[in-house]
Amino acid sequence: MHDDSSLTLCQFTQISSNSNYPTIGSWQRYTQGTKLRVAVIGAGVAGIATAWELTTDGHTVSVFDKASGIAEGASFASPGWVGLAGLTGWDSVSPNWPKKVGPGGLTTSAGWWGRSGTRRWLSAMKQYNTTAQQTALFATSLDLAALSVDRLRQTLSQPGVDVERSQGIMVLMRSDADVAPYASGLQRLKDREIKVVELDPAGAKKLEPGLSDDTVPAARWWLPEDEIINGRQWLSLLKTDAMRRGCVFQMNTSVITLHAGGRLTLQTGSQPRQEQVFDAVVVCAGHQGAALLGDVGLTLPLLNMNQCVLSAPIRDPHFAPVSGVFDAGHRISITRTGQRIRASSATGIWPGQDAEPVFKQLYQVLNDWFPGSASLHGVQSCAQAWQTTCAFTPDGLPLVGASGTPKIWLNLGFGAKGWTHAPGAARLMANLLKGGPTPEQLKGLAPSRFG
Ligand SMILES: Cc1cc2nc3c(=O)[nH]c(=O)nc-3n(C[C@H](O)[C@H](O)[C@H](O)COP(=O)(O)OP(=O)(O)OC[C@H]3O[C@@H](n4cnc5c(N)ncnc54)[C@H](O)[C@@H]3O)c2cc1C
Repeated sequence: MHDDSSLTLCQFTQISSNSNYPTIGSWQRYTQGTKLRVAVIGAGVAGIATAWELTTDGHTVSVFDKASGIAEGASFASPGWVGLAGLTGWDSVSPNWPKKVGPGGLTTSAGWWGRSGTRRWLSAMKQYNTTAQQTALFATSLDLAALSVDRLRQTLSQPGVDVERSQGIMVLMRSDADVAPYASGLQRLKDREIKVVELDPAGAKKLEPGLSDDTVPAARWWLPEDEIINGRQWLSLLKTDAMRRGCVFQMNTSVITLHAGGRLTLQTGSQPRQEQVFDAVVVCAGHQGAALLGDVGLTLPLLNMNQCVLSAPIRDPHFAPVSGVFDAGHRISITRTGQRIRASSATGIWPGQDAEPVFKQLYQVLNDWFPGSASLHGVQSCAQAWQTTCAFTPDGLPLVGASGTPKIWLNLGFGAKGWTHAPGAARLMANLLKGGPTPEQLKGLAPSRFG
């Protein structure tokens, strides 16, 4: 990034109107308020986006992460689908799992169901399982995603800013049975005037020439405005820009204890523990946030589940996806970032549960749609099977705003939509810290909604 571009990165205008995406009215940067000394806990997508927004607002920001590099938690190896409509539209917003089995139909271990908090979480989730609730959640999700897309595009449109990215996601339905569960999502998108194109086989092949001729979908939908980005590249760009503006990143530094009043007990490597006090602490600690907040007596309604991704180098670019496809029936996305292909499952599994069936399915689905595209086997392949933990709220939306304990703020619980929601949530968080109002459309993100 050039110095010129870093100057213009902080110019915050209204949401761009060059797409069919919805706008959030007159949403803009809130410029009043005092400048604070702020600690951000976590350097995943939520933490880095938050640190960047706060730094561009003029605050003095320190980021702490126990890992040695950025984006080493759930934000590592993401398929990078930042589609505004994709994840929010095709999925119900809350995970809608069958009663006697785990998410996505995988059987859970009996022991897990007995764990404290899980039943409470599940019963809270069921409250959202009405059409009216889902419609309201979808609207909030879409508005937050629209804000995220705006933040992404603003940073990525600067001269000299180069991140691997591609445009458009194709949703593939193997059978009519796959189409039915997505009908309401499709309708919701159409109601919000999100562009969805129904493709014929030739149209699909034109957009994705590597698609197999042997696996014939029953339906194909194209979301031209969804995007695939190399998320880690984007985050390192934001980190560099934030540092240039004075933000300090303290890696290898664990927040051992979070105290009321903005005090942190920190440990860097094997050095002696130290304490620092801040005007505000923003907790962006992903699935580890709930444990940390327990220190100040806060109980968060977060459920931890693992998600799996298979990543492999491209073997033959002619057979590889140009952008990304989503196998609706299996809830698996296949995306291309740079020289790698990623197949990722939206099916959550309990931490500790056998992930083998999910990885088998990822290999199978990748092979069904893009056979021969990835170097999956042999010593040269560098294929990686990876899983990590994401924290889900019962309504599927993140917790963004005041925690209820003085000086402690929350920006976590992104579930499977961190890339889609966190850039927008970061801007909301920054406005709230300045004492700005929450736009009507985003009031559903307040942590206080769970009591
Ligand atoms: C396989 C997979 C595929 C996905 N695909 C998509 C997708 O296509 N689109 C999408 O929108 N989302 C996707 N997601 C979800 C998305 O990746 C997550 O929602 C997002 O990364 C969460 O980011 P985060 O910053 O909240 O958490 P993390 O990235 O987990 O960051 C939290 C950070 O906090 C640090 N930390 C925690 N506790 C402490 C402490 N006490 N002291 C110091 N540091 C601490 C951790 O080290 C970590 O770095 C996917 C997730 C997975 C796993």
